[in-house]
Formats: sequence, C-alpha cells, structure tokens
Amino acid sequence: MIVGYPFSAVVGHDDLKLALLLNAVSPAIGGVLVRGEKGTAKSTVVRSLAALLPEVAVVAGCRFSCDPAAPDPSCPDGPHESGLSPQTRPARLVELPVGASEDRVAGSLDLERALTEGVKAFEPGLLAAAHRGVLYVDEVNLLHDHLVDLLLDAAAMGVAHVEREGVSVRHAARFLLVGTMNPEEGELRPQLLDRFGLAVEVRASRDPAERAEVVRRRLAFDADPAGYTGAYAGGERDLALRIAAARERLPAVTLPDDALRGITAVCAAFDVEGMRADLVMARAAVALAAWEGRDEVTPGDVRTAARLALPHRRRRDPFDDPGQGLDEERLEQALSEALSPDDDSGDDGPDDDGPGGGGAPGGEPADAPPGEGGGTGGRRPESPGAPYRTRLLAPEAVGRGGPTGRRGRTTGESGRAVGARTPDGRLRRLDLPATLAAAAPHQRGRGRTGSGLVLRREDLREALREGRESNLVLFCVDASGSMAARTRMRAVKGAVLSLLLDAYQRRDKVGLVTFRGEEATVALPPTSSVELASGRLARLATGGRTPLAAGLRRAERVLAAERLRDPRRRPLLVVVTDGRHTSGPDPVVTARRLADVASVVVDCEHGPVRLGLAGRLAAALGGTAIRLEELAADHLAAVVRDVRKVA
Ligand SMILES: [Zn+2]
Repeated sequence: MIVGYPFSAVVGHDDLKLALLLNAVSPAIGGVLVRGEKGTAKSTVVRSLAALLPEVAVVAGCRFSCDPAAPDPSCPDGPHESGLSPQTRPARLVELPVGASEDRVAGSLDLERALTEGVKAFEPGLLAAAHRGVLYVDEVNLLHDHLVDLLLDAAAMGVAHVEREGVSVRHAARFLLVGTMNPEEGELRPQLLDRFGLAVEVRASRDPAERAEVVRRRLAFDADPAGYTGAYAGGERDLALRIAAARERLPAVTLPDDALRGITAVCAAFDVEGMRADLVMARAAVALAAWEGRDEVTPGDVRTAARLALPHRRRRDPFDDPGQGLDEERLEQALSEALSPDDDSGDDGPDDDGPGGGGAPGGEPADAPPGEGGGTGGRRPESPGAPYRTRLLAPEAVGRGGPTGRRGRTTGESGRAVGARTPDGRLRRLDLPATLAAAAPHQRGRGRTGSGLVLRREDLREALREGRESNLVLFCVDASGSMAARTRMRAVKGAVLSLLLDAYQRRDKVGLVTFRGEEATVALPPTSSVELASGRLARLATGGRTPLAAGLRRAERVLAAERLRDPRRRPLLVVVTDGRHTSGPDPVVTARRLADVASVVVDCEHGPVRLGLAGRLAAALGGTAIRLEELAADHLAAVVRDVRKVA
C-alpha cells in the first residue's frame, strides 16, 4: 500500500490547510481551488487530507456508496432493503485525470453484458466513486470544457445524470471538489472559478529556515515513508478527532446578526455577483467557529472567511488578474462599518437586501458580448492600439471539416452524437441503440432462443458525431528594446483585442507570450475574455535583452497544455520579432520543434541594413513571414489563409 505524506507534517501553507479542514468540517462550503506555481506541494497537501476524514457508513455491496440511514432512492444498485447491516470504509479521495474520457467520469454502459446477456448494465464512473468523499482534479484549468460542464452539473446538483447509448441513469454524487492549477498554464473559465467555495494562492516560502525544514522532512519521508508517517500518527489522529468533533458541533453554531451583517457588507463592498459569496462566507465562518470549538461566529471568523471566499469571485476590474489577493484595507473598512454598533442604520451602510446588487448585468465576462463589457464605464486601458477588424485569422482546418476554411462543423469521432451509420471500416465507437434497433427485427428469423441477442456484423452501427471547431492564436512577441518594442506591443495589443472582439461569440482563444531580459512570460494565458485580455495587456513591460529561444520554448509549452485541454482547437503561432536574439540559445533549433504548428512570423526588422533573420526563423518554423505593417491590417487574414500545413 502506498503511504501518503501526513497532513500534520506539512510546513506552512496555513491558508490551504485551513481551507481544506473547513471543507472537511462542512462540505457544503463547496470545495477549494488551489492556485500556485509548480513545485509548491499543492497536490501533496490535498492528497493528505483524505486520511483525516471520518469513515463513511455504506450499504454493503452498493457501488454508489449509499448511506444505510438514507439510501438514495434512485440508486442504480437499489432499491436497498432497510435494516441491512452497514459497512464502514475510509473516505475516498478520487483523482480525476485531465485526459479522462466522459465514460470514465460519468460512467458507461457495460457493453459486454449488453451484448452477451442482452442486459443494460451501468458501470459507475469517477463521479460515483467520489460520492461522500473528495474529488480531486489536478491541473483543473487544463480539463476539457466538456468534462468541466459535466463536473459542474454534478457538483451543483449533488446528482450525476447520465444519458447515453439508450440508458438513463441518475445517482447521488456529492463530493468535496478540490482543484489545483498553475495559473501560468492558463486561467480557469469564470464559470468554474465561481463554483469553488474557497480559493487559496500558494507559493513556496521565501524564508530559508522554513525551506530547509520542508526539504528535511521530505527527505526523511522519502527515506522511510512508513516510519515517518508513524511518527506523525498522533498528530494525524488529533486532527481527525478534531474534524469529527467540529462536524458534531456544527449544527449548534449560531451566526449572530452583526456577523451576518458583516458578511453581507463585505460582499457588497467587494461588489461580488449574486448571493453565492455571502452563503459561502457564512458557511465558512460557521465551520471555522466549530473548528475552533466555539458556538458562535465572531468578527474574526468573518474576516478569515472573507479572505478565503472572496479573492476569486469579486467583480474584476479589467486591470486585475484573478490571482491577486484581497484588498485588506477595504475588507477592514467594510467590516468595521458593519460591526460598529449604530452607524450602519442610515445612509450608505449596506442594506440587508442589497448584497446581490439586483440589476447587475449578468453573464460571465468570458461570454459577455463586448458591447456590455465596454459599458462598465470607460475602464478600458488607454488605447492599446485601436482595435481593428481582423476578419479571419484562422489556421486551416485540421479536422475533417475540409479545406473550406470558415468555422464549420466537423464530423468525426468526438463531439455530440448526431446520428448513426454503418462503419466503413473498423468499428470505432458503437452506437448501441442503433445496433440493437438494426438487429431486433431479425431475431426471430435468426432463431433466437435464449436471453442474448443474435448479432451479426451487418447490424453494427457507429455513432456519428459532430463538434464545433475553434482556434487558438498564440502570439509570441519580442518585448525587448525600447521605442521599437513599444510600437510592436501596440500593434500586437490591437491585434489581440480585435481577434477577441471578433471571436467572442465563437469559442476562439487568444494568448500572448512575451520575451525580454533573460526570460519569457505568459503575459496572457489563452483566453476568450476580452476583459481579461485588455487588463493584462495594459500592464506589459518592455525593455532588456532578447531571449528569443526562451520565448519559443514558452510558446511550445502553452500550446502543449492547450492541446491537452482541447485537442480539437486549431493552433496558430504568431511570432513577432526581428529574428535577432541577444540572450539564450539559438532560436532556430527550438523553432524546428514547432514545425507541426501553423505559424506566421511578423518581421519587425527595420533600418538600412537588413539581416533577414525573421525569414530564416519562418523557414525553421515552416511558416510564412509578413511585415509588421501587415499585422496592423486586414492583410494578415489573407496571409494566414494561405498558410497551409499538413497535420
Ligand atoms: Zn445504493
């Protein structure tokens, strides 16, 4: 058996540990999103939580973990008789891998039994396995959109509903959702962001002594996991007991009026959308009081709850990035106004009915038409190059959509099922209802006797699926130098915003990698949000040396991450450079590794002596070179349409 790292041995990460513990006490808080760079032991901490959770009582033999005291009436393994002897088992931590198929997550029909015995049997997926436990998604920001939707629906309703291949199954799926992500690899869709009750930012400690302690403990654990864990057994047991005690205390904890007023005042001050933040904060504050062994919520509980519940859901200014912490001063001010005895009855105090903000324009920033986003009152950054219309900056189709270009539909193996057909070769994905329907009329004629079907090859049908195509345009831009850099950046900002304005109702994404000095940065993780983009683009730094290879390597990683997230998205790499590099290795070597991605090099070289380095880079990338002036014009569209690559 694999021995996990003990929770009580984790050094630092106080907010993360507290957020997890509060959810363990009160799963209704709605989970934790953990943001942070690589190598911060996020996953280790999350995985170590399961060992602290109280055991769960389950109906023996039920694959859907029914509670013997209240079995799920719709349990596919039910109905369960009452009075069955219950079983207890440890709480589970189920990991949802980023590349998981829908079948694996939601469950699927057992084809073998269906075909041999003629029974429609349902094979539970990860959502069923996670019921009454923890569902952990590492790199949740890389999860395929389609799985995200599935996950959200289940998390919101506490129920998984599977409807496919002619079966309809519904079962309970209440779980503590924990996601970890590295924001450098792309932001989470706003819809998913808001679904996590709490969010914490983790970073490695800057304190040498603390770092040394982390290393010391890790080495000791790796050398002797069992022995090390044994040494922390006492601490682990104490935490587990404390969680159990807090759970018992939870229903008795009261939320005094002034604390509730504090919560609504803070939510109003931070201008959060809807009521979810208020509820989450209230639940977190109550859980914290229970965790501390108190029967009443204090202002301190509210303050801590705000710090964990608000950072990811306050309404964002285009200039903010979602990783930013909470404005502590504003928090203190809102709290002290709400908590001071008399002052809040009149003028500008928070109204008790007001935190939702009533008529705030709804909709997620990512999907909101730009007209609405612009309506928030001149908050757009100072003209990042006037947006112009890039009519079509789209790489050629990679699916089976054919060479017709424009977004179209592709039919193939993934996407929504739109029909069935007889396979024209090897069977890829059986369409069971269609197959059964094809076989059914012949059963008598084929002399069927038992319960199984008599199936012939000509009965087989496969699902015909249809998916929408979408693009990813990744800019990789030289931000070194001074005056020339600013011109380049203006042109690029204009291009990015134009693409997003044009793309908002489609599902295209635009991202930006810049390189300057010694390194490359993901200045804009691939996004379809105009607001996020304009905010990030307003603060781009320029100057320094030119590590072109580092820029390309960074772009390569971003493209790889996006490919994982959505393999059907067609990437186009736009490198804006004069081809010179004054720092780092030879970019041409790196460029060759990107030769399977459609690319354009925007040549920024100017002056009397021209070296033609950008052209050389374009050749290594297998792409085309155009002039900077052409980026700032519809011209680019035409050029890109000519970029042809065989995948
Ligand atoms: Zn059951």
